Order: sequence, then structure tokens, then C-alpha cells
Amino acid sequence: MYDVIVVGARVSGASTAMLLSRAGHRVLLLDRAVFPGGKAAATNLVHPPGIARLKRWGLLDRLTATGCPPIREYGLQSGRARLMAPLPAVEEVDAAYSPDRATLDRILLEAALEAGAEFREDFSVQELCTDEAGTVTGVRGRSGDGATVTEHARLVVGADGSNSTIARLTGAEKYATRPVLNKSHWAYWEGLPHDGRVRTHRHARKHTFTWPTHDDLTIVGVALPTRDFRASSDEERDRTVIEAFEDVDPEWAASLRETKRAGRWMTGAVPNFLRRAHGPGWALVGDAGYTRDPITAAGITDGLRSAELLAEAVEEGLSSPPGAGLPAALARYGRRRDDLVTGHYRYTCEHALIADHSPEEIEFIRAMSRSATHGRDMVGVFATIVDPAQFYSAANIHALLDHLEPGPDLGWKLRMVRWLVRGAPRHFAPASRAGDRLIARNLGPMGRYLLDGSPQPVH
Ligand SMILES: Cc1cc2nc3c(=O)[nH]c(=O)nc-3n(C[C@H](O)[C@H](O)[C@H](O)COP(=O)(O)OP(=O)(O)OC[C@H]3O[C@@H](n4cnc5c(N)ncnc54)[C@H](O)[C@@H]3O)c2cc1C
Repeated sequence: MYDVIVVGARVSGASTAMLLSRAGHRVLLLDRAVFPGGKAAATNLVHPPGIARLKRWGLLDRLTATGCPPIREYGLQSGRARLMAPLPAVEEVDAAYSPDRATLDRILLEAALEAGAEFREDFSVQELCTDEAGTVTGVRGRSGDGATVTEHARLVVGADGSNSTIARLTGAEKYATRPVLNKSHWAYWEGLPHDGRVRTHRHARKHTFTWPTHDDLTIVGVALPTRDFRASSDEERDRTVIEAFEDVDPEWAASLRETKRAGRWMTGAVPNFLRRAHGPGWALVGDAGYTRDPITAAGITDGLRSAELLAEAVEEGLSSPPGAGLPAALARYGRRRDDLVTGHYRYTCEHALIADHSPEEIEFIRAMSRSATHGRDMVGVFATIVDPAQFYSAANIHALLDHLEPGPDLGWKLRMVRWLVRGAPRHFAPASRAGDRLIARNLGPMGRYLLDGSPQPVH
């Protein structure tokens, strides 16, 4: 009998197993893959809140020892707006990294084993064991030699990814679902300069992105709304992606032409949903409980954060007397997970539509590039550090108005907004509210935060 069985041994599962083992619990970690294989390549950017978890757990040095370069600035270019700003620090961590995924998985798995977790790879979980009340009490599955094996625990954790078997077997319902909103092509590139920056661009319903990754390579890609996406050969993709960069950053496009791709193009598309995070005797963590479009590159960061939340809850639940302790702690975990991710989830789904920015949005982004705090915080929204509702609060957007370009080039709508919010007689609340409604209508979907946002603490 184990305290906890964790199904899935990558970022979310290995972290959960490590934290619970370090807390003295008896943990069995299972994965149907044979490591280090079995995981499709992805772009693997880990934002500062994820890196701060690795530091807190004493694992950041292992990551930096691999030579993976730090990334300290993120940028967004759209029309004549060019925003590039340093990342806000989280617990003194002001860098992101894009490590090789097998390396990151290995670091976490080794840490789980060092902490005392028992690991079985090539073990596919197929059924759950339950008691008469329906509480999950263990798993049944097939080990590599073909034997059917049953193991019991006080809690079964599904860290088994978007298509989670544990979610299917427990019937954990999805909510806030959105379909696949875009598809992306990306590849590794060699020979590009590493200047510690994530570059993203929005133009003509294309979202181009590039950042330095491991082994002196650079990620280069483009995401397109699903309806614009066409299957194509590697050579056609070279053309599509380089032409997309040509439109927004000709210098970078020239560098792409002068250097070369270091492998095949890859394609990715992800549906969006949250799943109920817990029930009697079970919990979900990482992608199993919350899957979102990769456009904001937040899955690994969310996996690490939710592993920590779950481990804290399980620790509380298992150390209280048998009975209500664990269910109440798991219910707190579910609420805290939703509080943590909901704002960014909404932001990600809006971003994932890849709608071109309106002229007013572009002027707002330009204003952010002139205001050090707004620029940093906008980048912080993308990187899961700043809550979008806080960023798009009336007070913050009113302060941004001071950074709009002065002069006649500013469209009439923004001049009107500035007058309503800043120029009308002081304390004339209706004018300010009318200004907010006008801003909200012109900020695209994110403008709604201005009218109904309620800030949440994040990190
Ligand atoms: C195209 C693309 C690009 C992405 N880019 C980024 C990015 O830049 N940054 C970022 O943070 N995230 C990115 N992501 C998302 C990120 O890859 C995921 O969020 C992350 O892998 C989730 O980790 P996890 O540990 O929760 O699940 P997974 O990594 O999916 O691991 C689940 C594990 O469970 C095991 N398993 C499944 N079923 C069973 C079973 N029945 N029995 C035993 N074992 C089982 C699997 O073998 C697997 O090892 C991207 C995703 C895609 C698709």
C-alpha cells in the first residue's frame, strides 16, 4: 500500500512525486513510456514562475549546468508597435529557459528518485480500483513483461497528459472548453545569434515566434488560425515561415535565409479545457487537469505550479486524521488551481485566435513600449506572472494613457478617450466610465477586463 500513486512521470508527475517523497510519503510513480523516449518535441519555453519552482526545489543549477541560455526579454511586434521588455522577476528569478524536454524530464525524474519515489516505466495504467463507496483505492495496469499488476494507495494522481486515462476512468468533466484555435509549424534552427530574447509578431493573421533554446539552437515557428492552416512539405514550410518573418522583421528573415534549419518541421495543435481537478481518492495535475493553446508557452510552467499546489494539499490532507482531511484538502487544491490559471487561460484563448490588432490596440502597445512598468507588466501577463485582470484594470490603463503618442496622428477615438478620462472636469465619474467603455471596445477581447475584471493574486 502506497500513500500516493502518480500516473505519468514527466514535468507534472515527477514534480508531484518528488515533493511528496521529500515530505516523507511513500510514492509509486508509473509511466507507460520507456525513458528518455516517448515524448513528442515541443517548444519548451519555461517562464520565470516555473524556473522559480526549479530554484526553490534546488534543481535550477542542474538546468543551467546543461548550458541552456537564459532568456530575459520578451517582445511583441504588431504594425508599428515594437514592444520588447525585460521579464518581471519572481523570487529574484528574472529569466526564462527553453531546455531540451528530455533533459528537463530527466532532472525532475532523478530528483523524484533521489527523494525516494519508486519508479516503474513501461507500465500502462488501464483501470482503477474502487471501494464500495466509489472511492479510488488503486490502479491496475500492464507492465512491460505483459503481466497485469494491481497497486493500492490512499490517493491516485493523474499526471498523464491531455488525453488522461485517469480523467477518462473517473469521468472528470471538462469545463470552459474551447476547440483547437490555431495550428503551428516550428523547427530548430542553427547559426542564429542568441541574444536572450523571445520575439513574437502579429501580422496578417500570422503569429511568428522565435527564441533561443538548448544546444545553440533557436526555435523558429509560425501559428495560423485553424482555417488558414494547410498541410505542406518541409520546403513549402521554409518558404511560408520565412515569408511570414519577412513581413514583420526583414532582418531576422535575412538571418534565417543565411542560416539553416536543423531538423524537420513539426506541427502542433491543442484543444483548450479545464477538467475537474479531484474526486474521492483521485486528483489530476498538469495537462491532465488543464490544457491550453501553446501560443503563450505556459504548459510546463503551469505543470510545475500545479504540482506544487497539489503536493501542498496532499501533504495537508494525508497528515490530518483519516476522514475529511484529504477530501477537504483536495477541494482547496481544485479552487486554488482554478484561481491560479483562469485569468491566463482566458488571455491565452483570446491570444490563440490570432486576430490582427486594431489601430487602437496597436497604439496601446506602442504606449506600453514607452512606459517601462507597462511594458514589463505586459510581458509579465504573457509569462503567467501578472494577472491580466490586474493589467487591464481601469487604473492601470488610465495610467497608460499618459504614454500615448502626443500629436494629431493619434486617432480620434483615442483622443476622445484621453479627454474623457484625463481632461474632463476632475472626479466626473460618468466621463471616465464612458472613456473606459470606449477603451474596452477598442482593446479587442481583452478590453472586457476593463469593465468586468477582478484582479487575482498570481505567481
Ligand atoms: C506544439 C506544442 C508546443 C508547446 N510548447 C510549449 C512551450 O513552449 N512551453 C510550455 O510550457 N509548454 C509547451 N507545450 C505544452 C507542454 O508540452 C505540456 O503542457 C506539458 O508537456 C505537460 O506536461 P505533463 O507532465 O502534464 O504531461 P505530459 O508531458 O503529457 O506527460 C504525461 C505522461 O503520462 C504518461 N501516460 C499517459 N497515459 C498513461 C497511462 N495510461 N499509464 C501510464 N502512463 C501514462 C505518458 O507516457 C507521459 O509520459 C507545448 C505543447 C505543444 C503541443
